[in-house]
Amino acid sequence: MKHPDLLLFHGQLLSPPAAAVALGPDVSLSSIPDGAIVGHRGKIVDLGPTAEVLERTTPGPNTRMIDAQGRVVLPGWVDPHTHMLYADDRLDEMELRHQGKGYLEILAAGGGILKSMRDFRAAADGVLAESLLERLKEAVQSGTVALEVKSGYGLSLEEEMRALRVIDRIAKATGVPITPTLMAAHALPPEVDRQAYLKECDLAATQAAKAGLAKAADVFVEEGVFTPEEGRRLLTHARQAGLTMRLHADELAPSGGAELAAELGAASADHLTAATAAGLLQMAEAAVSAVVLPGTSFFLHRQPLDAERVRRAGLIAALATDCNPGSSPFRSMAMMVALAFHQNRFTVAEAITMATINAAHVLGEAATLGSLTVGKRCSLLVLSSHDVRDLVYRPGAQMTWAVVESGRVLIWQGRPTEEVEAWTIS
Ligand SMILES: [Zn+2]
Repeated sequence: MKHPDLLLFHGQLLSPPAAAVALGPDVSLSSIPDGAIVGHRGKIVDLGPTAEVLERTTPGPNTRMIDAQGRVVLPGWVDPHTHMLYADDRLDEMELRHQGKGYLEILAAGGGILKSMRDFRAAADGVLAESLLERLKEAVQSGTVALEVKSGYGLSLEEEMRALRVIDRIAKATGVPITPTLMAAHALPPEVDRQAYLKECDLAATQAAKAGLAKAADVFVEEGVFTPEEGRRLLTHARQAGLTMRLHADELAPSGGAELAAELGAASADHLTAATAAGLLQMAEAAVSAVVLPGTSFFLHRQPLDAERVRRAGLIAALATDCNPGSSPFRSMAMMVALAFHQNRFTVAEAITMATINAAHVLGEAATLGSLTVGKRCSLLVLSSHDVRDLVYRPGAQMTWAVVESGRVLIWQGRPTEEVEAWTIS
Protein backbone atom coordinates (compact mmCIF):
# COMPACT_ATOMS: atom_id res chain seq x y z
CA MET A 1 0.00 0.00 0.00
CA LYS A 2 1.60 3.23 -1.13
CA HIS A 3 -1.29 5.54 -0.29
CA PRO A 4 -4.33 4.47 1.73
CA ASP A 5 -7.90 4.89 0.50
CA LEU A 6 -9.07 6.61 3.67
CA LEU A 7 -7.54 8.51 6.56
CA LEU A 8 -9.71 9.67 9.44
CA PHE A 9 -7.92 11.77 12.07
CA HIS A 10 -8.60 13.85 15.20
CA GLY A 11 -11.40 11.49 16.21
CA GLN A 12 -12.30 10.45 19.72
CA LEU A 13 -12.04 6.70 19.12
CA LEU A 14 -14.18 4.51 21.37
CA SER A 15 -14.31 0.76 20.88
CA PRO A 16 -15.46 -2.41 22.59
CA PRO A 17 -12.98 -5.32 22.59
CA ALA A 18 -12.35 -7.27 19.38
CA ALA A 19 -14.31 -10.31 20.59
CA ALA A 20 -17.77 -10.63 22.17
CA VAL A 21 -18.04 -10.18 25.93
CA ALA A 22 -20.47 -11.35 28.58
CA LEU A 23 -22.11 -8.46 30.42
CA GLY A 24 -20.79 -7.75 33.88
CA PRO A 25 -18.82 -5.16 35.82
CA ASP A 26 -15.83 -5.29 33.44
CA VAL A 27 -17.61 -4.05 30.34
CA SER A 28 -15.94 -0.85 29.16
CA LEU A 29 -14.84 0.84 25.96
CA SER A 30 -11.21 1.49 25.10
CA SER A 31 -10.48 5.08 24.20
CA ILE A 32 -7.99 7.02 22.10
CA PRO A 33 -8.91 10.66 22.79
CA ASP A 34 -7.23 12.04 19.64
CA GLY A 35 -7.07 9.08 17.30
CA ALA A 36 -6.72 8.24 13.64
CA ILE A 37 -7.86 5.30 11.51
CA VAL A 38 -6.38 4.26 8.20
CA GLY A 39 -8.62 2.36 5.80
CA HIS A 40 -7.55 0.50 2.69
CA ARG A 41 -9.48 -1.83 0.39
CA GLY A 42 -12.39 -1.75 2.81
CA LYS A 43 -10.43 -2.72 5.90
CA ILE A 44 -8.82 -0.99 8.85
CA VAL A 45 -5.07 -1.24 8.25
CA ASP A 46 -3.80 1.01 11.04
CA LEU A 47 -5.08 2.99 14.00
CA GLY A 48 -3.67 4.84 16.98
CA PRO A 49 -3.03 8.34 18.30
CA THR A 50 -3.31 10.86 15.43
CA ALA A 51 0.27 12.15 15.75
CA GLU A 52 1.72 8.64 15.52
CA VAL A 53 -0.51 7.46 12.67
CA LEU A 54 0.18 10.59 10.59
CA GLU A 55 3.90 10.01 11.03
CA ARG A 56 3.75 6.55 9.44
CA THR A 57 1.07 7.24 6.80
CA THR A 58 1.48 8.92 3.43
CA PRO A 59 -1.84 10.10 2.03
CA GLY A 60 -2.00 10.35 -1.76
CA PRO A 61 -4.17 12.46 -4.08
CA ASN A 62 -6.93 9.85 -3.93
CA THR A 63 -6.92 9.34 -0.18
CA ARG A 64 -10.24 10.34 1.36
CA MET A 65 -9.26 12.62 4.26
CA ILE A 66 -11.72 12.97 7.14
CA ASP A 67 -10.96 15.45 9.90
CA ALA A 68 -13.30 14.32 12.67
CA GLN A 69 -12.56 17.48 14.70
CA GLY A 70 -12.80 15.75 18.04
CA ARG A 71 -16.08 14.00 17.33
CA VAL A 72 -16.81 10.54 18.74
CA VAL A 73 -15.91 7.66 16.40
CA LEU A 74 -17.43 4.23 17.06
CA PRO A 75 -17.58 1.00 15.10
CA GLY A 76 -20.81 1.18 13.07
CA TRP A 77 -23.91 -0.46 14.50
CA VAL A 78 -24.75 -4.07 13.69
CA ASP A 79 -28.48 -4.84 13.86
CA PRO A 80 -28.79 -8.61 14.40
CA HIS A 81 -32.60 -8.98 14.43
CA THR A 82 -34.95 -7.35 11.94
CA HIS A 83 -38.10 -8.19 10.00
CA MET A 84 -37.39 -5.24 7.76
CA LEU A 85 -38.87 -6.92 4.69
CA TYR A 86 -42.60 -6.26 4.87
CA ALA A 87 -45.16 -4.73 2.60
CA ASP A 88 -47.27 -2.34 4.63
CA ASP A 89 -47.65 -0.70 8.02
CA ARG A 90 -50.09 -1.63 10.81
CA LEU A 91 -51.10 1.83 11.96
CA ASP A 92 -54.73 0.96 12.68
CA GLU A 93 -53.69 -1.84 14.96
CA MET A 94 -51.51 0.50 16.99
CA GLU A 95 -54.52 2.68 17.68
CA LEU A 96 -56.74 -0.27 18.60
CA ARG A 97 -54.09 -1.44 21.04
CA HIS A 98 -53.89 2.03 22.50
CA GLN A 99 -57.65 1.89 23.09
CA GLY A 100 -57.08 -1.28 25.12
CA LYS A 101 -58.11 -3.85 22.51
CA GLY A 102 -56.52 -7.27 23.01
CA TYR A 103 -54.61 -9.38 20.52
CA LEU A 104 -57.63 -11.51 19.59
CA GLU A 105 -59.81 -8.49 18.95
CA ILE A 106 -57.09 -7.07 16.74
CA LEU A 107 -56.88 -10.35 14.84
CA ALA A 108 -60.67 -10.34 14.44
CA ALA A 109 -60.45 -6.78 13.08
CA GLY A 110 -58.08 -8.06 10.40
CA GLY A 111 -54.85 -7.00 12.10
CA GLY A 112 -51.86 -8.86 13.46
CA ILE A 113 -49.31 -10.90 11.59
CA LEU A 114 -51.91 -12.31 9.20
CA LYS A 115 -52.48 -8.80 7.87
CA SER A 116 -48.76 -8.60 7.17
CA MET A 117 -48.98 -11.99 5.46
CA ARG A 118 -51.82 -10.84 3.19
CA ASP A 119 -50.02 -7.57 2.42
CA PHE A 120 -46.81 -9.41 1.62
CA ARG A 121 -48.44 -11.94 -0.67
CA ALA A 122 -50.25 -9.17 -2.54
CA ALA A 123 -47.10 -7.09 -3.10
CA ALA A 124 -44.95 -7.42 -6.22
CA ASP A 125 -41.25 -8.13 -5.85
CA GLY A 126 -40.35 -4.60 -6.93
CA VAL A 127 -42.60 -3.02 -4.33
CA LEU A 128 -41.13 -5.21 -1.59
CA ALA A 129 -37.58 -4.47 -2.70
CA GLU A 130 -38.25 -0.73 -2.86
CA SER A 131 -39.68 -0.62 0.66
CA LEU A 132 -36.82 -2.69 2.08
CA LEU A 133 -34.34 -0.34 0.41
CA GLU A 134 -35.99 2.73 1.95
CA ARG A 135 -35.89 1.20 5.44
CA LEU A 136 -32.30 0.11 4.95
CA LYS A 137 -31.33 3.68 4.02
CA GLU A 138 -32.92 4.92 7.22
CA ALA A 139 -30.98 2.31 9.21
CA VAL A 140 -27.73 3.41 7.59
CA GLN A 141 -28.58 7.00 8.44
CA SER A 142 -28.61 5.99 12.13
CA GLY A 143 -25.18 4.37 11.77
CA THR A 144 -26.03 0.76 10.90
CA VAL A 145 -23.32 -0.87 8.75
CA ALA A 146 -24.53 -4.49 8.80
CA LEU A 147 -27.79 -6.17 9.66
CA GLU A 148 -29.88 -9.28 9.65
CA VAL A 149 -33.14 -9.44 7.70
CA LYS A 150 -35.64 -12.24 8.21
CA SER A 151 -38.28 -13.65 5.91
CA GLY A 152 -41.49 -14.62 7.68
CA TYR A 153 -44.48 -12.81 6.21
CA GLY A 154 -44.88 -15.10 3.20
CA LEU A 155 -45.74 -18.17 5.28
CA SER A 156 -45.60 -20.66 2.45
CA LEU A 157 -42.65 -22.40 0.83
CA GLU A 158 -42.97 -20.35 -2.33
CA GLU A 159 -43.53 -17.00 -0.63
CA GLU A 160 -40.73 -17.50 1.90
CA MET A 161 -38.30 -18.28 -0.92
CA ARG A 162 -39.53 -15.16 -2.71
CA ALA A 163 -38.80 -13.13 0.44
CA LEU A 164 -35.24 -14.46 0.60
CA ARG A 165 -34.68 -13.61 -3.06
CA VAL A 166 -35.81 -10.00 -2.46
CA ILE A 167 -33.44 -9.73 0.52
CA ASP A 168 -30.62 -11.06 -1.66
CA ARG A 169 -31.44 -8.52 -4.35
CA ILE A 170 -31.14 -5.61 -1.92
CA ALA A 171 -27.92 -6.98 -0.43
CA LYS A 172 -26.43 -7.06 -3.92
CA ALA A 173 -27.83 -3.65 -4.92
CA THR A 174 -26.39 -1.87 -1.88
CA GLY A 175 -23.32 -3.90 -0.93
CA VAL A 176 -24.32 -3.52 2.73
CA PRO A 177 -23.67 -6.81 4.55
CA ILE A 178 -27.07 -8.41 5.11
CA THR A 179 -27.38 -11.73 6.89
CA PRO A 180 -30.53 -13.43 5.57
CA THR A 181 -32.57 -15.57 7.96
CA LEU A 182 -35.39 -17.92 7.04
CA MET A 183 -38.31 -17.46 9.41
CA ALA A 184 -41.02 -19.54 7.79
CA ALA A 185 -41.93 -20.55 11.36
CA HIS A 186 -43.06 -17.03 12.28
CA ALA A 187 -46.74 -18.01 12.52
CA LEU A 188 -49.12 -20.65 11.23
CA PRO A 189 -50.76 -19.66 7.95
CA PRO A 190 -54.54 -20.06 8.05
CA GLU A 191 -54.88 -22.25 4.97
CA VAL A 192 -52.83 -25.30 5.89
CA ASP A 193 -52.87 -27.88 8.63
CA ARG A 194 -50.22 -27.66 11.34
CA GLN A 195 -48.27 -30.80 10.45
CA ALA A 196 -48.31 -29.93 6.76
CA TYR A 197 -46.90 -26.49 7.50
CA LEU A 198 -44.10 -27.86 9.68
CA LYS A 199 -43.11 -30.02 6.70
CA GLU A 200 -43.20 -26.96 4.48
CA CYS A 201 -40.88 -25.13 6.90
CA ASP A 202 -38.44 -28.05 6.70
CA LEU A 203 -38.54 -27.95 2.94
CA ALA A 204 -37.92 -24.21 2.95
CA ALA A 205 -34.86 -24.70 5.19
CA THR A 206 -33.45 -27.32 2.86
CA GLN A 207 -34.05 -25.22 -0.25
CA ALA A 208 -32.86 -21.94 1.27
CA ALA A 209 -29.64 -23.50 2.53
CA LYS A 210 -29.00 -25.21 -0.79
CA ALA A 211 -29.55 -22.01 -2.74
CA GLY A 212 -27.34 -20.03 -0.35
CA LEU A 213 -30.26 -17.67 0.32
CA ALA A 214 -30.31 -18.05 4.12
CA LYS A 215 -27.60 -18.29 6.72
CA ALA A 216 -29.86 -18.96 9.69
CA ALA A 217 -33.31 -20.24 10.56
CA ASP A 218 -35.48 -18.68 13.26
CA VAL A 219 -38.54 -20.14 15.02
CA PHE A 220 -41.14 -18.31 17.12
CA VAL A 221 -41.37 -20.50 20.22
CA GLU A 222 -44.19 -19.06 22.29
CA GLU A 223 -47.50 -20.07 23.79
CA GLY A 224 -50.04 -20.04 20.98
CA VAL A 225 -47.39 -20.10 18.22
CA PHE A 226 -44.88 -22.99 18.07
CA THR A 227 -44.22 -25.32 21.01
CA PRO A 228 -40.70 -26.11 22.24
CA GLU A 229 -41.11 -29.60 20.75
CA GLU A 230 -41.94 -28.14 17.35
CA GLY A 231 -39.09 -25.66 17.71
CA ARG A 232 -36.66 -28.48 18.50
CA ARG A 233 -37.77 -30.42 15.46
CA LEU A 234 -37.64 -27.46 13.06
CA LEU A 235 -34.29 -26.16 14.29
CA THR A 236 -32.68 -29.59 14.33
CA HIS A 237 -33.67 -30.00 10.71
CA ALA A 238 -32.43 -26.49 9.87
CA ARG A 239 -29.08 -27.23 11.50
CA GLN A 240 -28.77 -30.44 9.49
CA ALA A 241 -29.45 -28.39 6.37
CA GLY A 242 -26.50 -26.17 7.33
CA LEU A 243 -28.29 -23.18 8.88
CA THR A 244 -27.49 -21.42 12.15
CA MET A 245 -30.24 -21.71 14.77
CA ARG A 246 -32.04 -18.64 16.18
CA LEU A 247 -35.16 -18.42 18.38
CA HIS A 248 -37.81 -15.91 19.32
CA ALA A 249 -38.15 -17.02 22.92
CA ASP A 250 -40.19 -16.17 26.00
CA GLU A 251 -41.52 -12.86 24.77
CA LEU A 252 -44.97 -13.06 26.34
CA ALA A 253 -44.79 -15.97 28.77
CA PRO A 254 -42.10 -18.35 29.98
CA SER A 255 -42.50 -20.94 27.23
CA GLY A 256 -39.31 -23.01 27.51
CA GLY A 257 -37.65 -21.07 24.70
CA ALA A 258 -34.49 -20.05 26.60
CA GLU A 259 -34.05 -23.61 27.84
CA LEU A 260 -34.51 -24.99 24.32
CA ALA A 261 -31.95 -22.51 22.91
CA ALA A 262 -29.45 -23.72 25.51
CA GLU A 263 -30.18 -27.39 24.80
CA LEU A 264 -29.71 -26.94 21.05
CA GLY A 265 -26.70 -24.63 21.33
CA ALA A 266 -28.45 -21.98 19.23
CA ALA A 267 -26.61 -18.83 18.17
CA SER A 268 -29.14 -16.73 20.06
CA ALA A 269 -32.48 -16.53 21.79
CA ASP A 270 -34.20 -13.18 21.33
CA HIS A 271 -36.78 -11.15 23.34
CA LEU A 272 -36.56 -13.12 26.64
CA THR A 273 -38.64 -10.59 28.55
CA ALA A 274 -40.51 -13.44 30.24
CA ALA A 275 -37.60 -15.92 30.43
CA THR A 276 -36.93 -17.69 33.71
CA ALA A 277 -33.71 -17.05 35.66
CA ALA A 278 -32.82 -20.72 35.19
CA GLY A 279 -33.34 -20.44 31.44
CA LEU A 280 -31.06 -17.40 31.21
CA LEU A 281 -28.38 -19.21 33.23
CA GLN A 282 -28.59 -22.25 30.98
CA MET A 283 -28.16 -20.01 27.94
CA ALA A 284 -25.05 -18.41 29.46
CA GLU A 285 -23.57 -21.82 30.25
CA ALA A 286 -24.22 -23.00 26.69
CA ALA A 287 -22.73 -19.73 25.29
CA VAL A 288 -26.04 -18.83 23.63
CA SER A 289 -26.31 -15.07 23.09
CA ALA A 290 -29.30 -13.07 24.27
CA VAL A 291 -30.71 -10.48 21.90
CA VAL A 292 -32.47 -7.68 23.77
CA LEU A 293 -35.20 -5.81 21.86
CA PRO A 294 -36.08 -2.63 23.74
CA GLY A 295 -38.05 -1.15 20.83
CA THR A 296 -40.68 -3.87 21.17
CA SER A 297 -41.10 -3.37 24.92
CA PHE A 298 -41.39 0.38 24.36
CA PHE A 299 -43.86 0.14 21.51
CA LEU A 300 -46.09 -2.44 23.22
CA HIS A 301 -45.83 -0.76 26.64
CA ARG A 302 -44.42 -3.91 28.20
CA GLN A 303 -41.94 -4.53 30.97
CA PRO A 304 -38.43 -4.52 29.42
CA LEU A 305 -35.77 -7.13 30.21
CA ASP A 306 -33.88 -5.73 33.17
CA ALA A 307 -30.13 -5.27 32.67
CA GLU A 308 -29.39 -6.72 36.08
CA ARG A 309 -30.98 -10.06 35.08
CA VAL A 310 -28.69 -10.21 32.05
CA ARG A 311 -25.60 -9.34 34.11
CA ARG A 312 -26.47 -11.80 36.85
CA ALA A 313 -26.72 -14.60 34.29
CA GLY A 314 -23.43 -13.51 32.70
CA LEU A 315 -24.92 -13.51 29.21
CA ILE A 316 -23.34 -12.32 25.98
CA ALA A 317 -26.13 -9.89 25.12
CA ALA A 318 -26.75 -7.93 21.94
CA LEU A 319 -29.18 -5.18 20.97
CA ALA A 320 -31.41 -5.09 17.89
CA THR A 321 -34.31 -3.08 16.50
CA ASP A 322 -36.66 -6.03 15.79
CA CYS A 323 -37.84 -3.70 12.98
CA ASN A 324 -41.30 -4.97 12.02
CA PRO A 325 -44.70 -3.46 11.19
CA GLY A 326 -46.61 -4.67 14.24
CA SER A 327 -44.54 -4.27 17.36
CA SER A 328 -41.38 -2.27 16.58
CA PRO A 329 -41.30 -0.08 13.48
CA PHE A 330 -37.88 1.31 14.51
CA ARG A 331 -34.97 1.24 12.08
CA SER A 332 -32.52 3.20 14.21
CA MET A 333 -29.98 1.36 16.34
CA ALA A 334 -29.04 4.69 17.94
CA MET A 335 -32.59 4.79 19.30
CA MET A 336 -32.17 1.23 20.65
CA VAL A 337 -29.01 2.29 22.50
CA ALA A 338 -30.97 5.11 24.14
CA LEU A 339 -33.89 2.83 25.06
CA ALA A 340 -31.51 0.17 26.41
CA PHE A 341 -30.05 2.78 28.75
CA HIS A 342 -33.30 4.33 29.93
CA GLN A 343 -35.67 1.35 29.90
CA ASN A 344 -33.50 -1.70 30.51
CA ARG A 345 -30.92 0.20 32.59
CA PHE A 346 -27.84 -0.93 30.69
CA THR A 347 -24.85 1.40 30.96
CA VAL A 348 -23.73 3.41 27.92
CA ALA A 349 -20.68 1.16 27.51
CA GLU A 350 -22.84 -1.96 27.75
CA ALA A 351 -25.40 -0.68 25.25
CA ILE A 352 -22.66 0.23 22.73
CA THR A 353 -20.96 -3.15 23.23
CA MET A 354 -24.32 -4.86 22.67
CA ALA A 355 -24.98 -2.88 19.48
CA THR A 356 -21.55 -3.55 17.97
CA ILE A 357 -19.26 -6.47 18.83
CA ASN A 358 -21.87 -8.61 20.58
CA ALA A 359 -24.33 -8.03 17.74
CA ALA A 360 -21.65 -9.02 15.22
CA HIS A 361 -21.03 -12.16 17.28
CA VAL A 362 -24.70 -13.18 17.00
CA LEU A 363 -24.36 -13.01 13.21
CA GLY A 364 -21.08 -14.95 13.23
CA GLU A 365 -19.22 -11.83 12.08
CA ALA A 366 -17.20 -10.87 15.16
CA ALA A 367 -13.96 -11.47 13.26
CA THR A 368 -14.88 -8.91 10.60
CA LEU A 369 -17.12 -6.35 12.34
CA GLY A 370 -18.09 -4.74 15.62
CA SER A 371 -14.91 -3.08 16.87
CA LEU A 372 -12.19 -0.66 15.80
CA THR A 373 -9.57 -3.31 15.11
CA VAL A 374 -6.88 -3.63 12.46
CA GLY A 375 -7.96 -6.26 9.93
CA LYS A 376 -11.70 -5.76 10.38
CA ARG A 377 -13.98 -3.94 7.93
CA CYS A 378 -13.47 -0.18 7.96
CA SER A 379 -17.08 0.38 9.06
CA LEU A 380 -17.41 3.44 11.27
CA LEU A 381 -19.93 5.77 12.81
CA VAL A 382 -18.83 9.34 13.48
CA LEU A 383 -21.26 11.06 15.83
CA SER A 384 -22.09 14.74 15.49
CA SER A 385 -21.27 14.99 19.19
CA HIS A 386 -18.07 15.25 21.22
CA ASP A 387 -19.56 13.29 24.13
CA VAL A 388 -20.76 9.73 23.60
CA ARG A 389 -23.37 10.15 26.36
CA ASP A 390 -25.31 12.39 23.99
CA LEU A 391 -26.50 9.15 22.37
CA VAL A 392 -28.68 8.46 25.38
CA TYR A 393 -29.12 12.04 26.55
CA ARG A 394 -30.99 13.01 23.40
CA PRO A 395 -33.00 9.98 22.23
CA GLY A 396 -34.30 10.41 18.71
CA ALA A 397 -31.95 13.29 17.87
CA GLN A 398 -29.99 13.10 14.62
CA MET A 399 -26.57 12.10 15.98
CA THR A 400 -24.92 10.87 12.77
CA TRP A 401 -22.17 12.98 11.23
CA ALA A 402 -20.63 10.31 9.02
CA VAL A 403 -21.06 6.61 8.29
CA VAL A 404 -18.36 4.58 6.58
CA GLU A 405 -19.16 1.03 5.42
CA SER A 406 -16.16 -1.09 4.39
CA GLY A 407 -14.33 2.09 3.45
CA ARG A 408 -17.26 3.60 1.50
CA VAL A 409 -18.58 6.89 2.85
CA LEU A 410 -22.37 6.42 2.95
CA ILE A 411 -23.37 9.36 5.14
CA TRP A 412 -21.43 12.61 5.11
CA GLN A 413 -22.19 15.57 7.36
CA GLY A 414 -25.47 13.96 8.30
CA ARG A 415 -26.70 13.34 4.75
CA PRO A 416 -26.67 10.33 2.42
CA THR A 417 -23.92 10.53 -0.18
CA GLU A 418 -24.42 10.30 -3.94
CA GLU A 419 -23.52 6.64 -3.74
CA VAL A 420 -26.48 5.95 -1.44
CA GLU A 421 -28.82 8.14 -3.52
CA ALA A 422 -27.85 6.05 -6.55
CA TRP A 423 -28.90 2.72 -4.97
CA THR A 424 -31.72 1.36 -7.08
CA ILE A 425 -33.49 -1.92 -7.49
CA SER A 426 -32.80 -3.29 -10.90
ZN1 LIG B 1 -38.57 -10.53 15.94
